[in-house]
Formats: sequence, structure tokens, C-alpha cells
Amino acid sequence: MQASRRISTILGGGSDGWDVFNKARQMIAAGIPVTELTIGEHDIRTAAPILQDMHRSALDGHTGYAAIPGVTALREAVAARVQERTGVPTRKENVMITPGGQSALFAAHVAACDPGDRALYLDPFYATYPGTLRGASAEPVCIQTHAEDAFQPRSADIAAQAKGAKSLLINTPNNPTGVVYSRATLEGIAEVCRDNDLWLISDEVYDTQVWEGEHLSPRALPGMAERTLVVGSMSKSHAMTGSRCGWLIGPEDVIGHAINLATHTTYGVPGFIQDAAVFALDQGPAFEEEIAAPFRRRRAIAQNVLAGQNAVSLVPAQGAMYLMLDVRNTGMTGEDFAYALLEEHHIAMMPGESFGKAAAGHLRVAMTIADDEFEKALRTLCAFAESKT
Ligand code: PMP
Repeated sequence: MQASRRISTILGGGSDGWDVFNKARQMIAAGIPVTELTIGEHDIRTAAPILQDMHRSALDGHTGYAAIPGVTALREAVAARVQERTGVPTRKENVMITPGGQSALFAAHVAACDPGDRALYLDPFYATYPGTLRGASAEPVCIQTHAEDAFQPRSADIAAQAKGAKSLLINTPNNPTGVVYSRATLEGIAEVCRDNDLWLISDEVYDTQVWEGEHLSPRALPGMAERTLVVGSMSKSHAMTGSRCGWLIGPEDVIGHAINLATHTTYGVPGFIQDAAVFALDQGPAFEEEIAAPFRRRRAIAQNVLAGQNAVSLVPAQGAMYLMLDVRNTGMTGEDFAYALLEEHHIAMMPGESFGKAAAGHLRVAMTIADDEFEKALRTLCAFAESKT
């Protein structure tokens, strides 16, 4: 028996871009120590008080089926948070709680696109994007951004692909580039969406990690609340990646349809996880700042290390837990550089080529190890790059 075309082509053929990561993991399994700057996950674990609240909720009996759209307290907490941060009126009916932002990305595309509809997304992209779009039976259409624009998308390039398309997926603060889209960029994108009747799917899972400028949710731009689906998550803001708790925000009728999808797929998120998420959100912005602080610090460390050399340059590091390094001065591809750095110095980073074509000749550095090790790895990387120029 053959699996369906839909499921068997989720990866779209070719490399999934994780070869360097897999090689690093093989080395570690063989007992070789590797400094890993590959994966977007905090080096701290979920805070003990959040886990204690989860435990309390479970012992209190919240272990049965939970409300599929999300428990009222969490939907209301998320709605209040979104309204406060964006100024856009948001009620619990605009919110569905999902098992992580990833599930919300899928639900958003099922909600926006019919099978075969063109779904636009931007290169470089978070690794799961094209597969998520294919999984939702849409036809992914990739639009390049450019290193010379610091990877801020050009609205004219989006407009050129927008005719007949159904949706556009964006991500700011951005994984993998660490760039925060400017107001001008987002206004240009919003105009293309309005002019071409596109759904805008806005992945804002890094919205608490902004080092420069401010995070602007495009749902707050004129005429956008009715055509924007926002993806959010507790994963990055509260170091709760393993809890699988995120949300989808959108117009009430679309959220209603998304709840029907959840009823027939995920059947919601465990109640004790949702209760812990309410507790975590109640800790307020100071707690979120504390979770983001190590990345803010390491970004400053990187700026300092990189200032003393010319072999490697840093794409403006404005947000998210990543840095993007331009290694084109070495004449090497990002992939060759990453392999060589892994083999010679046992330091693992993701080549820009793992995230599409636009970031070729770059490396994505996850700022997810202790400060001193992080600094040492960057110094080794710079010396290595200098030896190649
Ligand atoms: N979007 C982006 C851009 C991400 O980097 C990630 C996780 N790495 C996600 C969505 C999904 O995160 P989660 O499902 O844990 O909320």
C-alpha cells in the first residue's frame, strides 16, 4: 500500500537542510564533544513555579479532556495580552489554544487555503514552513529576500507573486535571520495583502525577544484585523517548548472553523498545561524579560567579538534567539563553512542554505549556550574565517 501523495511529499524531496545538525548529533553519540549552536531552544528549562502550578492543576483533577478551543481563562488571558500589546480589540472568540505555534501554523493554512491554492512564504524561512504548507494541501510559493536589504522583504517582490495567491506567511522577529521587520516593511506587506485579497499569516512566536526597535503586529495595521491570522506560543516567551502550548488569533468565524479542525485532529491541549500557561502569563513582562535576557546578553557579546575583525559580518541582530553571520568573504558556502567548522573545531551551526536560497553563504547561530562557551565558539569561528580569507 502506498501512502498518500499529500503526506509522502511533505518534505518536497531533496535534503531537509539538517545534515550538519545530524552529523553533529552523530559525533556526540560517538563520544566526541561538540559545541552546539544549532537549535532554537533555551539553555534553561521551564521555571520551577510553572511546573509546580502544572502539577497542582493535574493533582486538582485537570487531567481529563479540556475544552477544545482552550480553557476560558487562557483564551481570555491571551486575548487581553494581544489587545494590550496591539490595541486591536480581541476577545476570547478570536483565540484558539493550540498544541504549540506549529499546530497554529498548520491550522492557519488549512483555514486560509483550499487544496492547490498558492500560499506565499519568504526565503530564508523557518525549516517547517514549506512542509506545513504542503501538509495543508496548499502549493508553497517562495519569495526571496536579499542579504543586501538585511533580509527585509520587498513588497514589490511579494506583489509580483500575489495575483491569484491566497495567503502570505511572514515571521517577525525572524528565524533564522534575527531581523525585526520595520513599520515600512509591514505597511508595504499589508498593502499587498489588501490589494490582492490575501490572508496574512503572521508568525509572532518571538515577539518578546526584541533587542532593537519594537515588535509591530501587522494585525494592528488598517484593514488588517479581518485578514490576519496571528500565530503565537508560550515556547519562546516562557521557555515552555516541551509543553506544546500556543495559539491562533483571527476573526471569530475563522477561529470557529479552526476549532472544528482541532476537534477532528488535535482535540485540544491538556488542561494542566493550559492552567500552567495562565499562571506563566500572570507572571507578567518582568518574567518574560528574564527569559529573554540571556539572548540579549549574548547578542552584545557577539557584537563585541565580531567588531574586532572583517572576515565575518553580522546581519543586523534585532530580535529572536539567533544571529545570522555572513561568511561570504571566505569564498566558502555556508554549508562548506559549517562542515569545516564542525570537523576542525567541533562547533556546530546551521548553514544559511538550510533555510532556503536567500541566506546562502551565511550561518545561523543559535545563542543557546552559556555566555563563556558562546564567546569562545565565536572567537574560534572568527579566527577560522580569517584563516580562510
Ligand atoms: N515559528 C517559528 C519561526 C519557530 O522558530 C518555531 C519554533 N522553532 C515555531 C514557529 C514553532 O514553535 P512551537 O510549536 O514550539 O510554538
